[in-house]
Amino acid sequence: MPFYDRDVDVMIDSPKLQARIAELGAQITRDYQGKDLTIVGIMKGSIFFMTDLAKAIDLPVTLELMGVSSYHGGTETTGEVRISFDLTKPMHGKHILVVEDIIDTGLTMQFLLENLGARHPASVKVCTLLEKPARAKTKVPIDYKGFVIEDKFVVGYGLDYGEKYRNLPFIGVMRTE
Ligand code: 5GP
Repeated sequence: MPFYDRDVDVMIDSPKLQARIAELGAQITRDYQGKDLTIVGIMKGSIFFMTDLAKAIDLPVTLELMGVSSYHGGTETTGEVRISFDLTKPMHGKHILVVEDIIDTGLTMQFLLENLGARHPASVKVCTLLEKPARAKTKVPIDYKGFVIEDKFVVGYGLDYGEKYRNLPFIGVMRTE
């Protein structure tokens, strides 16, 4: 029995994830024809999504990583975001696609868009695997979206619970007794 069987229910299985990622990859391939695309993956949550998405894009993309952490007052994010790992290359004149695991309140993405915008890129677009609109506190423009989900705490495929469960090959929900 796999280690997660006791505590996690499947929400989006692997074939469904991969089918949607193939569609997003095809759409991004069409939209960035003739452009030099830089994918900025947000650590750690987006790493699995970023690598699968990049493989589904039929263009010579550049991959960069950025790490951010938000301060939490209890279970709610306070909206204060800190860069824990910064980009190592200048973004001036680049076509950036920010790749995120989930947009929940939207505060992290709002911070990222302001921060990246200040580096004078040619363009910035947003791609998120999941969106939880029920908890949105700010409206962020989402250009590419995998799935809209209900207000449940999800794990797997990069998303963690206390730094664990990121390596599940699907998106799941923690079972509460
Ligand atoms: P936001 O700033 O949009 O509220 O939150 C974004 C970040 O919060 C995500 O990148 C992710 O790290 C974390 N987060 C939000 N919702 C969930 C969830 O349901 N599960 C997990 N594991 N992390 C979440």
